[in-house]
Amino acid sequence: MSKTKKFLLEEKDIPTAWYNIQADMKTKPEPFLSPKTRQPLKPEDLYPIFNQACANQELNQTDEWIPIPDEVREQYKKWRCTPLVRAYALEKALDTPAHIYFKNESVSPVGSHKLNSALAQAWYCKHEGVTNITTETGAGQWGTALAYACRQFGIELAVYMVKISYEQKPYRRSMMQTYGAQVTPSPSMSTRAGKDILTADPNCLGSLGVAISEAIELAITTPNCKYCLGSVLNHVALHQTVIGLEAEKQMAMAGEYPDKVIACFGGGSNFSGIAFPFMRHNILEGKTTEFIAAEPEACPKLTRGKFEYDYGDESGYTPLLPMYTIGHDFQPAGIHAGGLRYHGAGVIISQLLKDGYLHGVDIHQTDSFKAGLLFARTEGIIPAPESCHAIAATIQEAEKCKIEGKSKVLLFNLSGHGLIDMAAYDRYLDGDIQDYSPSDEEIEKNLEKVAPLNK
Ligand SMILES: *Cc1c(COP(=O)(O)O)cnc(C)c1O
Repeated sequence: MSKTKKFLLEEKDIPTAWYNIQADMKTKPEPFLSPKTRQPLKPEDLYPIFNQACANQELNQTDEWIPIPDEVREQYKKWRCTPLVRAYALEKALDTPAHIYFKNESVSPVGSHKLNSALAQAWYCKHEGVTNITTETGAGQWGTALAYACRQFGIELAVYMVKISYEQKPYRRSMMQTYGAQVTPSPSMSTRAGKDILTADPNCLGSLGVAISEAIELAITTPNCKYCLGSVLNHVALHQTVIGLEAEKQMAMAGEYPDKVIACFGGGSNFSGIAFPFMRHNILEGKTTEFIAAEPEACPKLTRGKFEYDYGDESGYTPLLPMYTIGHDFQPAGIHAGGLRYHGAGVIISQLLKDGYLHGVDIHQTDSFKAGLLFARTEGIIPAPESCHAIAATIQEAEKCKIEGKSKVLLFNLSGHGLIDMAAYDRYLDGDIQDYSPSDEEIEKNLEKVAPLNK
């Protein structure tokens, strides 16, 4: 008997509104604070950096649904709805009674989920008369997505790319340049923030935090220019909910409902995207789905971080955000999943974690590649090193099912493909991948610098 493997929706099924979980949260996220006055921020306070629509979405705790602009939805039609796939071959290889499903966000033109928010942010900027955008990129996925989105709406883009990725992933730089963006390795000498860091450490490999500081500095000092961020912030999580909203319909087509929803975790956008529409039923109807965020062992803010007010960037340009953090100037090891090297978790996620709606698991780098290889050899898609963390966490759950002899429904988000990351796979195949775990002292020492911000 042939088994249904793919659950496909049509263009008309693309959601018409994003889901804003803030409206439904029993405990609302604590306010963003101005580092100078310690007063809660209003949306207007964010207007110098962000476009107004996204600034308003950021602090919107009342509207459960936010309409997707027609032109953005029109752009989504190029690849959405994305497939939901039952991973029979992976199940078989694991000999598990679990039912494993994955939502395939790797089919977007740029190869990851990031385009869902990039198109929205670029459109709002265009709508407000912005001509230039700055941003940062870690692994290069966000920069690539925003480069393409800016091209669609006729906006100039300047990207600061984390230096280690600029060197390890030259093809992502080429992709951004192909779409027409200007790309600078970070830290650079073109900003005060970059100069400060290079003066202290000329060999600095860069981090998302430093690159964010550089991009914000350029946005503030350039006329008619806004800054866009591809993760962490509430409006980014909001835009990503198209993933989970589609998956909800597709799981219904499969006649199942997930017991566990799993995604990899950098700043939280793809996790939020797949999780929030399902978490809505936990909050409103008492469903008991478990939500698992797979973070790298090298950057363990969910499992070993502290809930504190901290900066979103290395140099302290952003407001103070109430978040799980291992300290804004934490320098994670140079793991291949560049998109997961970020010191904090988004504000909504942090509150939800505090309230017990989700939990983190730490994935060793070697386990992530091992899982990615098995996925490639069974399901055929070579996953992004970031996505490998979600697969590793899913495999752990599937193995638990086998030991307990219980069949659970597992749903994970395949946030992107790894076709531009083959150098990392080469290293793994050559046995040249290590695990990194920061010591407790290292994390504590780093968090000491955050403590005064909370006095
Ligand atoms: C950026 C990225 C991530 C991590 O970012 P989140 O905001 O946590 O989703 C994960 N996977 C891929 C493919 C990415 O490009």
